[in-house]
Amino acid sequence: MATATKQLKKAARIILIGAPGVGKGTQTKRLLDRFPQLGAISSGDLLRENVRKRTPLGIQAESIMQSGNLVPDSVMLELISSELISRGWLLPPQSSSSSSSSPSAKPSISRTASFILDGFPRTAAQASMLDEIVPINFAVHLLTPPSVIISRIASRWVHEPSGRVYNTDFNPPKVPGKDDVTGEPLTQRADDSIDTWKQRLKQFEESSKPLLDHYEAKGCLWRVEGNSSDEISPKLFAEIERRFA
Ligand code: AMP
Repeated sequence: MATATKQLKKAARIILIGAPGVGKGTQTKRLLDRFPQLGAISSGDLLRENVRKRTPLGIQAESIMQSGNLVPDSVMLELISSELISRGWLLPPQSSSSSSSSPSAKPSISRTASFILDGFPRTAAQASMLDEIVPINFAVHLLTPPSVIISRIASRWVHEPSGRVYNTDFNPPKVPGKDDVTGEPLTQRADDSIDTWKQRLKQFEESSKPLLDHYEAKGCLWRVEGNSSDEISPKLFAEIERRFA
């Protein structure tokens, strides 16, 4: 989808909250195209990168992810804050001579950084931890009926080596089960199987209520509904422009 770009005048620190498969990744990509000042961190992508590289954290997270459960909060916070620091959006604690031994020295947020966190925080505990370092000012709740998501997941296939994604309903490969470019076999993402998805949806429903309440109480929660990403994107763009452009 080709989009005109827009400038943001105020720093936007956005999180996307939604059931697995609702299209958080798709919305993130579109927002990055629309608002070039935005950057993004996806907790799922960061974890999958660690699994691929066989880091100690990745090895620990792999079986948890495959079973559809959540990686422990402390592991997630460490992962996200080090990524925020490496992107320059979070500045490491200042070590001034008078306060160098202060145990309360905390990293501080870059005042101009605008970004999207996709998939983090996932629980109210993670949100409280994040509040300490990053004041989120726009929490988006993406809503699509579960029956619509389930049919989308069942039809999603990927070519692992290239990351090319197919959908047997609206973007099928030329030869069923084969990548268009290489002819290699297509697979379904290990955590995309319907049973795992149902487990993840249950997790999401249990953990998201307190998370949504958390941001509602802060006055920055906004809901958007649609049966497809194409229905949701224009509404999301308009709201971000209203608040930040
Ligand atoms: P995602 O790609 O966002 O659906 O994440 C895939 C899997 O990574 C999830 O099912 C969890 O096991 C794990 N994960 C991602 N983000 C988090 C998080 N914020 N807290 C705990 N686990 C997470």
